[in-house]
Amino acid sequence: MEPTQNSISVDRRGEDGNNQINPDLPVNFIQDIISADLKAGKNDGRVHTRFPPEPNGYLHIGHAKSICLNFGLAQANRGLCNLRFDDTNPSKEEVEFVDSIKTDVRWLGFDWEERLYYASDYFEQLYEWALQLIKDGKAYVCDLTAEEIRAYRGTLTEPGKESPYSNRSVEENLELFEGMRAGEFPEGSRVLRARIDMASPNLNMRDPVLYRILKEPHHRTGDKWLIYPMYDYAHPLSDAIEAITHSICTLEFADHRPLYDWFIDNVNTEFKPHQYEFARLNLSYTVMSKRKLRALVEQGYVKGWDDPRMPTISGIRRRGYTPEAIRDFCDRIGVGKQDSTVDIALLEYCIREDLNRRASRVMAVLKPLKIVIDNYPEDQVEWLEIENNPETPESGTRQIPFAREIYIEQDDFMEDPPRKFFRLAPGREVRLKGAYIIKCEEVIKNETGEIIELRCTYDPDTKSGGPAAGRKVKGTLHWVSASHAVPAEVRLYDHLFVPENPDNDEDGRDFTQKLNPNSLSVISNCMLEPGVEASLPGERFQFLRQGYFVVDPDTRPGALVFNRIVALRDTWAKIQKKG
Ligand code: ATP
Ligand code: MG
Repeated sequence: MEPTQNSISVDRRGEDGNNQINPDLPVNFIQDIISADLKAGKNDGRVHTRFPPEPNGYLHIGHAKSICLNFGLAQANRGLCNLRFDDTNPSKEEVEFVDSIKTDVRWLGFDWEERLYYASDYFEQLYEWALQLIKDGKAYVCDLTAEEIRAYRGTLTEPGKESPYSNRSVEENLELFEGMRAGEFPEGSRVLRARIDMASPNLNMRDPVLYRILKEPHHRTGDKWLIYPMYDYAHPLSDAIEAITHSICTLEFADHRPLYDWFIDNVNTEFKPHQYEFARLNLSYTVMSKRKLRALVEQGYVKGWDDPRMPTISGIRRRGYTPEAIRDFCDRIGVGKQDSTVDIALLEYCIREDLNRRASRVMAVLKPLKIVIDNYPEDQVEWLEIENNPETPESGTRQIPFAREIYIEQDDFMEDPPRKFFRLAPGREVRLKGAYIIKCEEVIKNETGEIIELRCTYDPDTKSGGPAAGRKVKGTLHWVSASHAVPAEVRLYDHLFVPENPDNDEDGRDFTQKLNPNSLSVISNCMLEPGVEASLPGERFQFLRQGYFVVDPDTRPGALVFNRIVALRDTWAKIQKKG
C-alpha cells in the first residue's frame, strides 16, 4: 500500500556475512553504488557529497529531494556533505538567496557544519587550470559572437564547424585570455573555449565555452573578476577541489557527464570525482523551475517567495508543513532514474500523518451561525473537559466554556435538507461535540430572507456522565461559545494552478495563464475557542472537521491569522483504494 516509485531490487546484505539487510541504509541505486564503492575500498572508504545550489532564487521542494539525498547519504554512510553555492553568474545571483538557502537547509534538519563553500572561492584555481588548458593546447580564445558559436556548433544530425580562431598559438591565447581578465575587451567580444571535438555526437563536447567576459560585480568577489567561468567548467572542478566522492545531480546533466570527465581528466587534479544522475522531482499542479517561480514573485502573481501557495521551502514552511513531513515525503518518493510527476496529494498525506499525532485539536467555526439555546440559563457558563488529541491520550485535556449563545458552521445547518444530510435542520437533533444534544426549534431570518440565527433547546441529560449521555443522534458538530470566542482571519488555499501539469505549453498558453483564481480564499471573523489567542506564529492545530492550521506570521496581538495547511479529507488514501 505504501506509495513508492522505487522498484530496483539489489542485494543489501550486511558486509559481515550475515544475511541481515542493513535497515539504516537508504534504499536507492546511489546507495547501492556507494555500498559497492565502500566494499571495493574506493576513495579510502570516504563518502563525501555536496548540495550545490545556484543562489538565483529560493529553494523549492525539488531541491528538498536533492538535499535529503545528499545529506542523507552522507549521514547514513558516516560521510560528509558540503553546502556549496555555485555562484558563477553574478548577474542573476543575490545575497538574499544565499541567506534563504542556508535557512531552508537548516530548517529541513541538515547541517553542513564548517563546510560552507562557494565556487567563487575557487576562481583563482579555476583560472590557473584554464591557463594550463591553454598551455596544453586544449583551450583557445574565440572571437565568434554567441550566435555564430551556436551556428558553428551544428545540430544533432550535423557535425559542427571548427572555429576560425581555434588554431591560435598558445602565446596568443595566453595573451588574449589574460587581456580578458584585465578588462581589455568589451563584454561579448571573446570567450575561452575548450578544444575538444566539433564532430562529437554529443553537442556538449563541441568546444564548449569555459569563460565569458562579464563586467558585473559579484556578491562575494566584488569587481575583482571581469571574466566568469561557466557552470559546466566550474562544477566538476569544484567537486575535485572539495574531493567529492559522489557528485549527485539530476538527469538532465547526464549528457554533460563526458564533459565533466573531460575537465577532470585534463587538469592536474589528484582527486577524480564522479557524477551520478537521478530523476528530478516534479509535482502535480505546480511549477518548479526557479525561473518560473521568480516570474510569479516578480510579476506579483503571489505575495512573495514565501507565499503559502508556492512550492518553495519557505512557502511550504509558512503554509505550516513540518520538516519531518517533507523528509518523510522525500523518503516515500524514492530515488529513481526515470522522470515522473508525483501527485501533490502524497505531500498532503505526509503532513496529515505527521500532524495527526502532534497537533492539538481545537474547535473553530469558520463561517459562524448563531444559536440561542432557549432553555439554557441566561448567565450560566459550564466548563466542559475535552481531550487535546484522541491519538495521543498523554496530551491531556482542556476546559472549554459552554453557554446559552453559541456558534456553529453555517454549512452545518440546512433549512430544507436532502435525505443524507445528518447535521442540523428544523426539528432535528445533533450532538455538540463534548457537550449536549440540541434540537432546532426555530429559524430566524432578516428582511432579505437570510438566516441569521437559530433558536434551539438542549437536553440537559445528554452531557458526558449524564443519565442520557449515551443517547445516539446521527450528527456531531463543532461549536464555540459566542461570548468567549476569539475572532480570527483564516486563509484557505487550493492548488496554485488549475491543470495538473501547468508546464505543458502545447496549448500555446503560458503557465501564468493557468493560475487558479481561487487558490486563496480569506475568511475574516472566524470564531475560535478561547485559549488560542496567545498562539504564536508557527503553532499548529487541528481545527475539528476543518483540517490542520498554522498561525501565520501576519498575526498581531488581537488579530490572529491562520493558514490552512491541509484539509482533513485524505485524497491520497482514496486514490490508493481506487488504484
Ligand atoms: P531549477 O531548474 O529549478 O532552476 P536548478 O537545477 O537550476 O533548478 P540548482 O540551484 O542548480 O537549481 O540546483 C541545486 C541542486 O538541486 C542540483 O544538484 C539540482 O540537480 C537539484 N535539483 C534542482 N531541482 C530539482 C528537482 N526538481 N528535483 C531534484 N533535484 C533538484
Ligand atoms: Mg542550475
